[in-house]
Amino acid sequence: MLAIAACAGAPPSRHEYEHGAMGTTFRIVLYAADPARADRAAAAAFARIDALESVLSDWNAASELCRAAAAAAAAPGHPIALGDDLVRVLARSQAIAAATDGAFDPTLGRCTQLWRRARRRGELPEAAALAEALATTGHRHVTIDAEQRTLTAGRAGIAFDLGAIAKGDALDQALAVLRDHGLPRAIVDGGGDVLAGAPPPEGSGWIVGLAELSADATEIAPIRHAVALAHGALATSGDSWRALEIDGVRYSHILDPRSGIGLTERRLVTAIAADGATADALATALSVGGPDRAAAWLAHFPGAGARIEWLTASGMTACAFGVWPPMMSAPIESKESRRER
Ligand code: FAD
Ligand code: MG
Repeated sequence: MLAIAACAGAPPSRHEYEHGAMGTTFRIVLYAADPARADRAAAAAFARIDALESVLSDWNAASELCRAAAAAAAAPGHPIALGDDLVRVLARSQAIAAATDGAFDPTLGRCTQLWRRARRRGELPEAAALAEALATTGHRHVTIDAEQRTLTAGRAGIAFDLGAIAKGDALDQALAVLRDHGLPRAIVDGGGDVLAGAPPPEGSGWIVGLAELSADATEIAPIRHAVALAHGALATSGDSWRALEIDGVRYSHILDPRSGIGLTERRLVTAIAADGATADALATALSVGGPDRAAAWLAHFPGAGARIEWLTASGMTACAFGVWPPMMSAPIESKESRRER
């Protein structure tokens, strides 16, 4: 009895966890009064992420995604049965593709496979191979029936790549697991995309540093600003270290679905949304569409917003669209200013 009373009265303390999955590192920070419960909840959340990876990965031919895509590609017009996780992510992908005029397109799988090979070899994909791959793409050629839980491909050879949304969905599912364990004061990070639950006990939000575009593509820009985030997601896409550079032209790992070619514009997008899947996919879509399309596309997503930075001949420009900043935005101390004190 005494032990229980002491535990119930204990103030929540901070617990941190890390786990490799989906080609990146996931991190959980949460507040809990009972360390054993915190450990159990984090382990369950990471197990959920691992389970999702085995469903949603296009890096693993045995995943449910790859098997369903192969079946659909071989039998256009025939519905293929899907599990709950796959149907949820594919249905959300199709909705976001429609709202962004196909700038986010989950059917780019054949093209992204060519670009991964291109990066390994350090040479652009051959034009004929690219044209052949492009002919298999197009979110409009796919029907997801969420009620019947089926996928039907309208053209042969289709392949999916959920790399721009599945990490965000994993954040959503992981936070749900933490909540189910009675631990809502948590934040989950997947390779820089984050989803915050209830704020930490001592503040109104989780402080998240914002990535910035560096004029010199070979350098990581210092983090100079932070936002406070609670009950929402923040994802960054665009200018990346996964770029391929050929003859002085830098091609992003994000493709323009119209051409199947990596973006060459220097842009960095930070998107916020109510959930991780939407923020993740929107950051990618807005990297393709840029500042001209941002306001129109964001209007489809209540509560969503974005900050876009881009490089022009005259220098760096930044603009905010929709709901921005998430709660509050403040400059954070640089290492230099801390050292000066
Ligand atoms: P985002 O902008 O969020 O996504 C860009 C990625 O989405 C591209 O790399 C491409 O795959 C795809 N894409 C490109 N253009 C578009 C477009 N216009 N519309 C839609 N999608 C587009 N990496 C590994 O190295 N090894 C692994 O084993 C591995 N397994 C993974 C398993 C899963 C389930 C997932 C989701 C990812 C995996 N990754 C793996 C990929 C890795 O983590 C990626 O870097 C990540 O998914 C890309 O995220 P991002 O935030 O960098 O960019
Ligand atoms: Mg992303």
